[in-house]
Amino acid sequence: MPNLRFHALKEVGKRKPVVITEKGKRSELFGENVFNEETMRQYMTKEAFESVMNAIQYGAKIDRKIADQVATAMRDWAISKGATHYSHWFQPLTGSTAEKHDAFFEPIGRGRAIEKFGGGQLVQQESDASSFPNGGIRDTFEARGYTAWDPTSPVFIYGTALCIPTIFISYTGEALDNKTPLLKALTAIDQAATEVAKYFDKNVTKVISTLGWEQEYFLIDKDLASTRPDLMIAGRTLLGHTPAKGQQLDDHYFGSIPGRVLSYMRDLEQECLLLGIPVKTRHNEVAPNQFELAPIFEEANLAVDQNSLLMDVMNKVAERHDFIVLFHEKPFAGINGSGKHNNWSLATDTGVNLLAPGKTPMKNLQFLTFFICTIKAVCEYEELLRASVASASNDHRLGANEAPPAIVSVFIGQQLTKVLDELEDVSTGKLSPEEKTDLKLNVVGKIPDLFLDNTDRNRTSSFAFTGNKFEFRAVGSKANCGKPVTIINTIVAKQLIDFKKEVDVLIEEKGLKKDDAIFNVLREYIKQSKKIRFEGDGYSQEWEEEAMRRGLSNNKTTPEALKANVSEKTIQLFESMNVMTRVELEARYEIELEEYAKNIQIEGRLIGDIARNHVVPTAVKYQNTLIENVRGLKEIFGDGYMDVASEQVELIKRISEHIKVIHSKVDDMIEARKKANKAKNAEETAKIYCNEVKPFFDQIRYHCDKLEIMVDDELWTLTKYRELLFTN
Ligand code: ADP
Ligand code: MG
Repeated sequence: MPNLRFHALKEVGKRKPVVITEKGKRSELFGENVFNEETMRQYMTKEAFESVMNAIQYGAKIDRKIADQVATAMRDWAISKGATHYSHWFQPLTGSTAEKHDAFFEPIGRGRAIEKFGGGQLVQQESDASSFPNGGIRDTFEARGYTAWDPTSPVFIYGTALCIPTIFISYTGEALDNKTPLLKALTAIDQAATEVAKYFDKNVTKVISTLGWEQEYFLIDKDLASTRPDLMIAGRTLLGHTPAKGQQLDDHYFGSIPGRVLSYMRDLEQECLLLGIPVKTRHNEVAPNQFELAPIFEEANLAVDQNSLLMDVMNKVAERHDFIVLFHEKPFAGINGSGKHNNWSLATDTGVNLLAPGKTPMKNLQFLTFFICTIKAVCEYEELLRASVASASNDHRLGANEAPPAIVSVFIGQQLTKVLDELEDVSTGKLSPEEKTDLKLNVVGKIPDLFLDNTDRNRTSSFAFTGNKFEFRAVGSKANCGKPVTIINTIVAKQLIDFKKEVDVLIEEKGLKKDDAIFNVLREYIKQSKKIRFEGDGYSQEWEEEAMRRGLSNNKTTPEALKANVSEKTIQLFESMNVMTRVELEARYEIELEEYAKNIQIEGRLIGDIARNHVVPTAVKYQNTLIENVRGLKEIFGDGYMDVASEQVELIKRISEHIKVIHSKVDDMIEARKKANKAKNAEETAKIYCNEVKPFFDQIRYHCDKLEIMVDDELWTLTKYRELLFTN
């Protein structure tokens, strides 16, 4: 049996970049495979087109007759582009995407066929979806779920299928996906923010949430990866000694991109453009073989869909280039992990970014209103925001001395801090004309100038204001952005509703002028949300202590963090904002706990298997060579052999010691797993996996990694860190 590691290394040595042929001018490729506004106009009747546009903009219902027309148009377009199937495309709670393909045509015998794609198939599908997580919402005997068309995200062609973005709900109407609550949260923020925006501009009739994600990932050669069951199954290395050269030199960041990778990126970018994903930046990240892809921001629902689609596209394109993509938040110990920054803002249908300062004091008061309300919302619901990014894999990043900590805090920069400090001193009640003039000229009026020099970005903050948007940096690279974006919009919507109520009371009952009332409420909000603001080093020990004193949460593990999802405060929030029900929240809690436990269980099994089936046998092989050597030395040197064989004998002993510890730790870990599996409920199971199973990973790894550096390199079967990270 050849050593697979050497075989893989040899294969990689032979690889050349795949030659990519440009499919056309980039601007012409853009949206080629998307049924966008322009294509819709071309293929649809005026009536159908207007009906769909109304649904997109105002959530109007599309009647059945029109749906038939729309479906026909979609089908004709899709077939003209070579599609043969259609598929409802959705995002179940597994975090990935799901599709079920049906052919447009169905033969009915005697050489005849009927077309199967009408309004009915477009709008709703019943799907046997009993294998998707549902947290007990759907009894197993009632395995029906429904997918329903979401007209706000355009259909697209992927491979040979026309994909229709849909929501996924149970027979009884509960959401079984990430999109349903997101759409509801987007409705909530639209309503709440429009009301508030009207204080400043009566012409606003709609507010959308915008999202620009930044996807980090690792690219690893597929042959090298295939020698590592941990990478292939868990998406991360569970053992491996750190290489002599890691990222200490920081020479990868913005360095030149290797040829094979560049060719992958070009290919990927073309695919993205065809699918209407407006990709733009491309650069190396801090770690070796780590990269980032970021598009221009979009309306949030579309951006979430595009990110889910992108992860799938990335995998598919990688196959053509003999790579695998690692989306895991921490694929390699000791090397930077990956995140997915979520840049978030709000925009009006009058074309204004509500988190960007404007040219007039009134526009800046509008900016301050949305800015301060967001900070207050984050302060109020920091624990929920933390929960929205909790997962077994993200636990390796958050709170593990890597960006950002498990503590949520808001960074706004020195200058805006000064503005808020000054606003905090505004007097209560009616403002004097002098005070108002001063405020407008010297505080609010100065804001645009501040932005010219907005260089003091703090990289360690989890929720940072970056000039015209907030950047939520705690989101995991593997995550579906739907979850955090739902939370941000829901909590800010709630805050804006409260804000409007408070301002209106001051206007109507206290007779204050509108801007006096707004200043008054904002002043209170600044005071109430001070504890969430932090400008210092988020990685430091002092901040952990300080955050604790401030009463901020610091939930380092997923089981701990998830609890916030089912607190009475959270349930109250979601029910009042009509985003999720108690039943849905409790089901999700259950699902996430189970997913967490499963992840740790799989990793536990893997590390046990690899230790026993790869590491120990290899170590024994090497030990036998040593024993052979000592025997030979004894033959030559007789009784005095220890003079020349003592090092070898020492090694033989040390190998045995490591093997012994590995075996006993793996046994203990198995016992802990048994205990976890017998626990009385999902919460308890997850807790045991977290606190009693997981700690064995590092202990077992330690001994395996020691053996890795002792054993003859020729014998080692698992591709080493330096090879995984520096070969491409
Ligand atoms: P950095 O890497 O420094 O965080 P980038 O320039 O890579 O910054 O990313 C900025 C991200 O912010 C991009 O994805 C961009 O699309 C997004 N963005 C810019 N403006 C907005 C906005 N108004 N709403 C949402 N996202 C935005
Ligand atoms: Mg960023």
